This record gives sequence, structure tokens and C-alpha cells, in this order.
Amino acid sequence: MKTVHLTIKQRIVLWFSLSLFIIILATLAITLQISQIVFRADTQAQLIDLVEANIDQVGFVYTLEGQDLEAGDQFINYADGYLEIDDDFCDYMNGIYTCLLSDDGTLLYGECPILISDGAEKLFSTVDEITYEDETYYVYDCVIENGSILDGVRLRGVASEREGSHILDRITRLVYWFLPGLSVLAIIVVYIIINRSFKPLEKIVRTAESIGNGNDLSQRIDLSPGKDELRTLASSYNHMFDRLEDSFQRERRFTSDVSHELRTPLAVVLAQCEYSLELAESEEEYREALESIQHQSLKMKEMISQLLFFSRLEQGREPLQMIPCPISELVEEICVQQSSLLDKNISLQTNISPEIIGYVDQRLFTRLLINLLSNASKYGHENGTITVSLSKGKFIKDHQEDWIALSVKDNGIGISDDCLPHIWDRFYQVDSSRTETTKENHQFGSSGAGLGLAMVKEIATLHNGKMVVESKLGIGSTFTFLFPTYEKKS
Ligand code: ADP
Repeated sequence: MKTVHLTIKQRIVLWFSLSLFIIILATLAITLQISQIVFRADTQAQLIDLVEANIDQVGFVYTLEGQDLEAGDQFINYADGYLEIDDDFCDYMNGIYTCLLSDDGTLLYGECPILISDGAEKLFSTVDEITYEDETYYVYDCVIENGSILDGVRLRGVASEREGSHILDRITRLVYWFLPGLSVLAIIVVYIIINRSFKPLEKIVRTAESIGNGNDLSQRIDLSPGKDELRTLASSYNHMFDRLEDSFQRERRFTSDVSHELRTPLAVVLAQCEYSLELAESEEEYREALESIQHQSLKMKEMISQLLFFSRLEQGREPLQMIPCPISELVEEICVQQSSLLDKNISLQTNISPEIIGYVDQRLFTRLLINLLSNASKYGHENGTITVSLSKGKFIKDHQEDWIALSVKDNGIGISDDCLPHIWDRFYQVDSSRTETTKENHQFGSSGAGLGLAMVKEIATLHNGKMVVESKLGIGSTFTFLFPTYEKKS
């Protein structure tokens, strides 16, 4: 069977029309039912009223002679005298007939649309519903009381349902035309409203498709301001596109940065190879060339392993081993190890509060501290000082819990305010020529490719912490790692 695919717009209009149709049908049926009940009750009440009003208009006289005859009155022979019908007698009104009948059903006066029986006539002392020649009538009789003279003469009211229901028929016919007309109008209005409401959605789809098909990630869904669901959706999409564009740009920059960073050492390697092959004569010259090649290769190897480590961290492929750890002792230990590796006669001081427990991955934490110490040493002055502090307290505004602060302070070259926001970016270096490759750089695993602080930031984020830096050009820098205490974690 072929499946029909309808758009959301078509589905809404279809469901709306169907519901409207059902509601209208139900309304019509209920209205007709109620109207009929009301109409019936009303007709019966009118029938009784008319018959009872006419009863006083019928009298009896024995002779017409000597009578003061009123003009318009009618006289009908009956028994030994005459039935006198007053001119106020109403024999027809709104589909209700009234007539005078003798006890055997003979019509004495007026008009009766139905012939109920011949012979002894039944008395309808309450309103009764009878069907005569496929039509419904209401019949009501009132016996005229006048001693024994008029015994059996009755005033009969007969209401024809069809004649009385003309007005109802007209109203029903009007409703039959009016309601469907109104429904068609409602469906058109709903269609227009839906069409308008879905315009932003079409824009969203068009933009998403055009971004999906092409390379232009800078496109955005441009909608007039508002706070409805579609505008919220559009703004979420725009936010997503921002992030996509940002991540694509970072990826592109990253690729070009990596190629750029690898090109320099590779060029050196190639130049050294060419030199040795073509110009080197002595063993010493070969050795120098090989040493240079080894150095550049180590640099590339280090950069590649850092990048791999980095991408594993970012993709969550480097499993974290977070454990409660005596941070005070760990920091003390790292400082003791690293102090012997510092050059430029830089001294390392510590100010470590005892017994601080953190919840960290020891390997990453060590890497973070070593990177900071490496930088403090690289960018420190001759005979400078590095101070490592560790303490616990309410360092974060609006946070009631204690946090741990690990800071590495140096009195080195410092960083200008302009460069400060960029130091966390991958491959960013304030001045690469100042990054010398010293023995500790190799030891620390950072030979100056602008990756050290980016990694520090990533590790801080993985520990649910953050990095804060204060620096003054020519005076020195303080890098602080703020992270939650073990108590906070548990
Ligand atoms: P790298 O040290 O390999 O250049 P980093 O990511 O570690 O890369 O640092 C980025 C830049 O931030 C460095 O090039 C340097 O200019 C600056 N920087 C980092 N630490 C310090 C510091 N302690 N003092 C002065 N400048 C620093």
C-alpha cells in the first residue's frame, strides 16, 4: 500500500478540519434534539391555552327571537336551540385548529384536519400525540359544561407538528448552510495562521540545508526578535552553528599550526642532511649535523606525543584515575624533585599547608605542576625565585565550600595584558625566540611549542577546577590552579 506523506502543516489542517466537522455535526444533532423537545413542549402549551381561551366563547340559546344578537357571533343549530359562537372564537392560530364536536364526533363548527374515528368519539382530556396520514398531530379536548343541554359537546384543539415547525425548519436550514460556511472560513483562517507560523521553520530548514550542503558555516537563521518556540529553536540552532564554526575553525587552525610547527624542525633536519652529504668532511662535522638532527627529531617526537596525549585527553580516551590523594605530600615531593633541575640559578621555595587531601589523577596533576614550574623557570630571570604555595579556603566568590589553591609564582619576565588572554591557546607563544630549549624543558616534557599551558588548562577542567593567572610585564607571574577538595567531592 502506498503511504501518503503529509507535511506537518497539512496534517494540522486535516486534523483541525476533521475535528471541526465532528464538533459541528455533534452541535447540530444536539441543537436539533433540544429544539424539538422545546418546540413540542411549547406547541402543547399553546394548544391547551388556545382551547381553554375558546371555551368561554361558546354558549347555548334556545331561540334567537328576542335575543340581542351581537354582530359577528355565529349560531349553529344544536339540539333544541342554537350554539352561539362568539366572534372572539379563534379557530386557527400558528398551526393549531380548534373546532366543536358533538359526542359522536360530528363536526359542529370550525375545521379539523384529522378524522379520528367515527361513532363514539374518544375524549382527549390530556394532550395526546397521534399520527394521521403520516403526520404527527397533538390533540386536546375540553368538554363544554352547560348542564345537560351540551352534554358531550367538546372543544377540540388539533396542532399540526409540520405546520408549527416551519420556523424551526427555517432555522435548521439556515444553520445547515451557515455552519459549514463558517467552518470553511475557519479552515481558511487556520491555514493562513499555520502558514505564517511555519515561515520561521521553513527558514530554519533552508539555512540548515544550505549549511549542510555547502561549506559556508557563517550562515545564521535570521528571524525577527521574539520569544516563541520557533525563535528559541532558531537561536539554539544559531548557537549550535556558532560552536560548529568555532570548532571547524579551531580544527583548521590546529592542522595548519601543526604543519607549521613541524615544518621548521623538518627543514633543519633536511638542511643538516644535505649539508652532511654534500659539504661535511670531518667526523666532527658529521657528528655536529647528527646531533642537530637528533635534537630536532626529539623536538618533533615530543610535540607529536604531546599532541597525541592532548587529543586523547580531549576525546576522553585518556582514562582518568581520580583518587583521594594527600596533595600536600605530592606537591612537596614534586618540588623536591624539580628543584635540582632548575637552571639560571633559580631557587624554589615552598609554602605548603599540611594535610590537604584532593581528589585528583596523580599523573595529570603532576604534569600540570611540572608544566607550570617549567614555564616559571623558562621565563624566570637569572638568580630568580619560584614560590609554590598550597592552601585550602573559600577562594571562590559565592561558594560556601572550601577549594584548594595551588599556585606557582615567579619573578620572571611577566606577560603583557594584551597577550594574557591568549596564553591558553594551543601553539600560542608570546615570543617564541625567548623559548630556549634547556635541559629542564626536555625533562618537563615541554620544549616550547606553545602547548604547555593549553594542556594545563585542559587538566584543570578535567579536575572540575580552573586556572587563574596574574602577571605584570617585567615583574613576574602567578599561575593558580583552583580545584575542589576531597570533602566536596564525596
Ligand atoms: P611554551 O612555553 O611552550 O611557549 P606555553 O603554552 O607553556 O608554551 O606558554 C604559552 C606562552 O605563555 C609562552 O610562550 C610564554 O610567552 C607565556 N608564559 C607562560 N608561562 C609564563 C611565565 N611563567 N612567565 C612569562 N610568560 C609565560
